[in-house]
Formats: sequence, C-alpha cells, structure tokens
Amino acid sequence: MINRNPYIANLKAGYLFPEIAKRRREYAAAHPEAKIISLGVGNTTEPILPHINAGLAEGAKRLGTVEGYSGYQDEGLPELREKISKVFYRGKFAIDEIFISDGAKCDIGRLQILFGAGTKIAVQDPSYPVYVDGSVLAGAAGGWENNGYTGITYLPCTADNNFFPNMELIQPDSLIYFCSPNNPTGAVSNRDQLSTLVKAAIEKGCIIIFDAAYSEFIRDPSLPKTIFEIDKADQCAIEVNSFSKPAGFTGVRLGWSVVPKALLYSGGESVNKDWGRIMGTIFNGASNIAQAGGLAALNDEGLKEMRTLTDFYLTNAKLIRDTLQKLGINCIGGDNSPYIWAHFPGRDSWEVFSEILEKCQVVTTPGAGFGPAGQNFVRFSAFGHKEDVEEACKRITSLLS
Ligand code: PLP
Repeated sequence: MINRNPYIANLKAGYLFPEIAKRRREYAAAHPEAKIISLGVGNTTEPILPHINAGLAEGAKRLGTVEGYSGYQDEGLPELREKISKVFYRGKFAIDEIFISDGAKCDIGRLQILFGAGTKIAVQDPSYPVYVDGSVLAGAAGGWENNGYTGITYLPCTADNNFFPNMELIQPDSLIYFCSPNNPTGAVSNRDQLSTLVKAAIEKGCIIIFDAAYSEFIRDPSLPKTIFEIDKADQCAIEVNSFSKPAGFTGVRLGWSVVPKALLYSGGESVNKDWGRIMGTIFNGASNIAQAGGLAALNDEGLKEMRTLTDFYLTNAKLIRDTLQKLGINCIGGDNSPYIWAHFPGRDSWEVFSEILEKCQVVTTPGAGFGPAGQNFVRFSAFGHKEDVEEACKRITSLLS
C-alpha cells in the first residue's frame, strides 16, 4: 500500500468554511422554520453584468467557428495580458511578466512550488486560510506546537497596531504572505505601511506574495491598489489578483499573477522564468471563454460594470458596518473592502458566531478560524442580495443587544 503524504495529515484546521456549513446545517435541521441568511462566506451573489456576460457568450460562440477556434493558451491571451498591464499597472509590465490563471487561490497554492519545503513563512494573523494550509501542504510549515506551526511566523494584526504587523517579527529569507484590502479584517494598508513592508522585505532578503484580490473595492484614491505602486517592489514581490469579486467570476474562474523579471532568488536566478516553467508544466492555461469575458471586463463598458458591482457590495458593507456601530460594536473594514471585522472583547469568536446564528439566524465567520489573533472577532461579509442584507441588519438591530 502506498503511504499518505504526511503533510496532509499535518493540516490542523478542518477547513474553516466546511465547518461553518456543518454548523449551519445542524442549526437548520434543529430549526426547520428558520430563514437563515448568510453573511459568512466571500462568495459572490449577484449576476454577471450584461456587457461582461456578452463577452463570455461571444467567447463561447467563437469556439464554434473555424476562424475563431483556439486551443491551449498557455500563459494566457497576449491581448488580455497587455490589457491587465495597462489597466492595473499603467503598462509597467511586459506581457511575459503577467500570467493568466484560473484564479488567485490556485496561484497561491502553486506558487509555493517555487520555494519548496523548508522555506520560512510569515503570515498576517489573522489571514486567508490558504496561505497557512498551502504552506503545510508544501512542507514549509514545520510541526504543530502551542497552537501554531513552528515554521510559520504569525504577524499579529490587531487594533493596537492598526491592523498592520510589526516588521521586526519577520525573519530573514522568509516568504511573506500579505493581503490588502485584507481578508478577513477589511483593513487596507496605506502607502507608508506598504513602503515599510517593501523596505523590510528587501533588507531581510524576503519575497512577498501580495494578494490584491479585493483591490477593486478601494475607493480612497490615496490607498495603493497594488504593491507595485511602491518603489522597488518589483525586486521583492509577486502579486496575485482575480476577476472573481469585481466581475462576479467566482464560478467562471479567471485570475492572474505578476512575477517581475527583476525578482531574483538568492543565487541570482530568475523567479519569472521558473514560474513560466511551472505554469507550463502543471497548468495548461485558463479557459479561453473566461479570458474573453476578462477582455470584455477591461474595456470602458466592462470597467464601468465592475465599478457598479463593487459599489453594490460596498453599499451592503456600509449598511452592515453602520448597523453594528449603532449597537456600540467596534468594527473596521467595509469602506474600501467588502468585509467588516467586528470586535467582541473578551468573547470567544465561535461563541459569538453561535449567538448570532441562534438569535438572528444570520451566519457569520468566527475570527479565530483565520488565526489566533482573530479570537474575539467575527467577520461579516457584504456578499449577499440587498434584501437579505437589509433583513439581516434589521434582525441584528432588534435581537442583538
Ligand atoms: N484571495 C483572497 C484574499 C480571497 O479572499 C479569495 C476568495 O475569497 C481569493 C484570493 C480567491 O480568489 P479566486 O476566486 O480568484 O481563486
């Protein structure tokens, strides 16, 4: 018999969202009359808007014609890569620095192959689960001791440090996962903070994997939408991003990574070349239908639609945040991000999750599921239909006091 990969057994958390779904199912079974509303997950709920949807449909239609047919696309359609560089990076990157993929999560999982087992890892705490679990699967997380992995440096992001971690905690030669706008805290790092991060990474010989999946929710023009707005970031950072949230492509699957040619390993080898090699070896390119949709999303009409969709979720976010604040609950996020991070001092976050589910029939996400520093917090997600979010807020106002 063949042995199980021991790194799989090393995964500690039952993945957070299945656990939430299980608790929701159990509650629903015990209370069949309850109308449960989910403000728990980051899954999009609104239809893809017409222009972008027509782009997808056109892409599918073209595949049925001799002139329009295309097969494998490897790193992605050159027009799409060029357009991404222009729209998101002011044309700073050549098309061979941009790799089209089936989404940011998939890229985050694959990127670890570049660095391998034994790499030192640093993550914001709390953080999106795949940074830690992906590191565990890659053999880079070490053993489990005292509620954390020995190979991972957890960088607490709390109200005391304005949800931006202390750079002194980062060990030399680490791979740093960093997410802004942040999931789950909703905090968005400003220019000074990101400059501090880039400076620390360069001084310590680290590489940052910068997750910008929520960049299109940023409305404050002073906040950077990409790590590459920061000087010298191309020497120390890889960025991943996605059409999932701004275009409603969570089920369509389309994302990209930017791996600058200026980014080198300690031995001077090109990270960009290796990433091309890995993508060519284990990934055969994103769907060409999805890429046609992506191209439609990046022309004037498509950009307007992405703005409309993100505005919609931000309106939900504002309502949730205002509702919680009126109850005297301290929270951050929800202004330049679709997540609201609500503080319940001294309370266990799974207990708060259960209380909100039982009193209001509203599903949230317990902060402790995102890391030790998430204890005492609950995440509210703005991804929901307007009437559901309004109803959830009404229940929270009348029942959660
Ligand atoms: N990165 C963050 C921070 C996310 O919250 C999510 C999804 O919730 C993703 C990446 C996943 O993006 P994709 O759908 O492109 O895989």
